Amino acid sequence: MEVDPEGRLRDPTSGNPIASIRFATFVVLKTMDLPRSFYLLVAAAMACTSATPSSTMSNQDPSTTEHINNPYYSRTDTAHLNVSDAEWKRILPDSVFEVARHKATERAFTGKYWDTEGLGMYYCAVCGNALFRSDSKFGSSCGWPSFYEALHPNSVRYENDSTYGMQRTEVLCGRCDSHLGHIFDDGPPPTGKRFCMNSIVLDFVPDK
Ligand code: FE
Repeated sequence: MEVDPEGRLRDPTSGNPIASIRFATFVVLKTMDLPRSFYLLVAAAMACTSATPSSTMSNQDPSTTEHINNPYYSRTDTAHLNVSDAEWKRILPDSVFEVARHKATERAFTGKYWDTEGLGMYYCAVCGNALFRSDSKFGSSCGWPSFYEALHPNSVRYENDSTYGMQRTEVLCGRCDSHLGHIFDDGPPPTGKRFCMNSIVLDFVPDK
C-alpha cells in the first residue's frame, strides 16, 4: 500500500484512494486483544480529528472563494496573463466582463467602493493582482473610487484613449490587461493624479 500526502491509503496499481490512515489505524487496533472501552476511546478521538479541515482547505483564503471558478485568479502570482476574451467571457460574470474587457463604465455613485474608507488592499477582481492600498484612496466627488497612486508602478499600465471625442489615458491591470478606468491630472498631493476606477473590477480586502 502507498500513502498519499493527505494520509489516504492508495492502491499501488490503480493509484485510487482506498481508506484514510485513521481508519486503517483503527482496524489494526481492533485486531488486538484490548478492552472494549479502549476501542470506544480511540474511535471517539478519531471522530474528533477527522472533523479538522484538510491542509488543502486550511490554505484556501476565504476571501478568494468567490473566484473558485477562475483558474487565473491569484493574489500571489504576478506573471502576466494572456487570456482570450472568449475565455474571460466564459469565466467572468457579465457585469465584470463588460467593464474589464469591453471598457464599459459603471454609473457614478453606484459602485460598491466609491465611498469606502476602511484600511486594506484593492485587488483586480479579474486576476487578483494587487492594485492600490487604501492609504492612497481619497474622497472624490466624482462618484467612482479614486486613488492618487498605484501600489507599484507596474501594478497598472496605461494606454491612450481617444473614444467619445475625448483624449484620456486609460488604466489597465498590469497583470491581466483588464480595463480598470482612467487617470486624470486633478488629484491631490503628493502625485496630483486621480486614478478614477470602476468598483466592479476591484476587490477590497480589509486589513486583519
Ligand atoms: Fe487583473
